[in-house]
Amino acid sequence: MPLELDSDIRFLKGVGPKMAEKFHAIGIQTILDLLFHLPRDYQDRTRITPIRACQIGRYAQIEGQILQSQVTFGKRRSLLVTIEDLSGKMTLRFFHFNKQQQANLEKGRLIRAFAECRLLNQGVEMIHPEYTLDPQPINTETEKLTAIYSTTQGISQTLWRNLQTQAIDILATSTQQVDSIQLPAHLKALQISLNEALMFCHNPPPTVNVDQLIEGEHPYQMRLALDELIAHQLSLLAYRHQRRSQLSPAFKAEIETNPLLKSLPFELTSAQGRVIQEIASDIRQTHPMMRLVQGDVGSGKTIVAAVAACFAIQSGFQVVLMAPTEILAEQHLVSFTEWFEPLGIQVSCLLGKHTKKQKRECLEALLSGDIQCLIGTHAVIEDDVQFKQLGLIIIDEQHRFGVHQRLALHSKGQPNQSPHQLIMTATPIPRTLAMTAYADLDLSIIDELPKGRQPIMTKLVDQNRREDVIARIHHACLDGQQAYWVCTLIEESETLNCQTAEETFIRLQQALPDLRIGLVHGRLKPSEKADIMNAFAKGDIHLLVATTVIEVGVNVPNASIMVIENPERLGLSQLHQLRGRVGRGSLQSYCLLVYQKPLSSQGKERLQIMRESNDGFVIAEKDMELRGPGEILGDKQTGLINFRVAHLERDNHLVEDARAIALSLQRSPDISKRLINRWLHQPEYFING
Ligand code: ADP
Ligand code: MG
Repeated sequence: MPLELDSDIRFLKGVGPKMAEKFHAIGIQTILDLLFHLPRDYQDRTRITPIRACQIGRYAQIEGQILQSQVTFGKRRSLLVTIEDLSGKMTLRFFHFNKQQQANLEKGRLIRAFAECRLLNQGVEMIHPEYTLDPQPINTETEKLTAIYSTTQGISQTLWRNLQTQAIDILATSTQQVDSIQLPAHLKALQISLNEALMFCHNPPPTVNVDQLIEGEHPYQMRLALDELIAHQLSLLAYRHQRRSQLSPAFKAEIETNPLLKSLPFELTSAQGRVIQEIASDIRQTHPMMRLVQGDVGSGKTIVAAVAACFAIQSGFQVVLMAPTEILAEQHLVSFTEWFEPLGIQVSCLLGKHTKKQKRECLEALLSGDIQCLIGTHAVIEDDVQFKQLGLIIIDEQHRFGVHQRLALHSKGQPNQSPHQLIMTATPIPRTLAMTAYADLDLSIIDELPKGRQPIMTKLVDQNRREDVIARIHHACLDGQQAYWVCTLIEESETLNCQTAEETFIRLQQALPDLRIGLVHGRLKPSEKADIMNAFAKGDIHLLVATTVIEVGVNVPNASIMVIENPERLGLSQLHQLRGRVGRGSLQSYCLLVYQKPLSSQGKERLQIMRESNDGFVIAEKDMELRGPGEILGDKQTGLINFRVAHLERDNHLVEDARAIALSLQRSPDISKRLINRWLHQPEYFING
């Protein structure tokens, strides 16, 4: 019987039972699965790359004269052959070689070599390249592009290619089709059947535009990327749908009678009001809310969260708020206590530093329902934290947490009753990125700052004008204001980083003996950190020297100057977060970016953006352009956007279409399922994975 797309790959020639197991273990069961394991790169033997133009991690074919050929006896005996072309030099390294080979690779001969370029201690090298001596000119008729596959122990590139050739033959003759969905008319360039796209990508014709192919920008590749993005959207929509079928407590959420709103010392901005409406209509439902509130630093997310908490508590449920740092948790404790105590609501805090006894008492009060609102760091996820009746989960500065932590909290509700979730972030996420990474969440945006805030003035200051900066701080602090001085990360070394902060602290103390100066950095104990932060918040400290630990959430409205040293080391979104520590009161605030010369042109461009814009969304878009999505989502979230062929920056323009197509496919559950299956072997991979 001829093989079909759904046949097991063990029926292919060259796949024994052992080998079949290897494939099954990496999720490749059928011929169709195999076809969707697409090349990660292509070997190009149709041309010679100048040595200078070789890129690390890429395959290249180079040609040059042998300059030197010598055996070295370092850790491993190896033969090093240095070759030179008109553009530069490169070393070819051999660990296994015989006398004959060594003799042939003699000085002065012309050699053509092909391998991946790697960066080793001495520079760019090729290890065990395939090579020919005194090569003939390239015959572009017979040489073609060869696919390279990401692989696992024991599956060779030759085997991959061999099996894909068989799979392509089956695809060409199979009675089954890979269903290509109807694409909207405006995607003219992508009206390609998946059959064609798969054949093309596994076996590109020699006439192809090689650069386009290697960059993944060929329409056939884009067609597959689109298919994957659609599958991703479908899986998130399926997850959303599943959530609709879960049960949650419906709260009485009446805005007019909310006691907290009645007692507020300020008027809500209209954006805050709108977001509270959105939350209220979610939590009146009997299925769980999953809402992400994005609001620029200082836009007033905390009060929005507190109003939501108040709805839950008034309906007889408990609330937990998780913050990424102890400083932030304690600050929330202060605000929530101030707001809730007059209403007779019991607020408590669970932190790593608490004693066993304090912790036990807290846990008991949670179980009995005496504590209605719990605030803490990730300590609140621990198994022994159990609630009497948890109704709402609030996660602050969500980009600091991974999906797993979000899910761990989710499981703390009553059996068969999922708590509602409110997630807050000050890192604005560009729209297409949010659509991809958080398509399972509903989005609310607080796009307005409270009245009376003056925009922060940002200035670029050359390092050699430090004295002026110090004088300015002196003046402002004597005038009753406060300031931050932030020392940025040196490489990845936290130790060095604290050292710099310590040195700066000492130097500033010498320069400003009449000011009270504090120091916080990551190596202090949480309680020490909190003490200093509290002293700063109370105004007992004029100037706070800090590492970037103060980045999130800290709220001291009287602070009006922020100095950031070596801002060129930080991402734009991070700078914007830091800068948001000032401009929280009614005073005109300043952010002084003290840079070191010389700045690269990109560095200059980035700092200019900081100077020109106070809008977190604009800055995030730029950051995404300049540094990619990983910077914005944070390491913990990048797993959300790991695709096989799609690439979020490159294929950004396809996201909106993928979303629209996925929405229209929801009514065809069979096709949706097949689409999800071929890209994500476990349909909920992105959520649970
Ligand atoms: P973020 O969104 O960065 O978490 P916060 O919730 O900490 O911001 O709010 C920043 C400051 O603004 C706090 O001091 C808060 O009390 C105050 N605030 C919030 N909303 C308003 C408002 N509508 N009018 C005036 N001040 C407000
Ligand atoms: Mg906040």
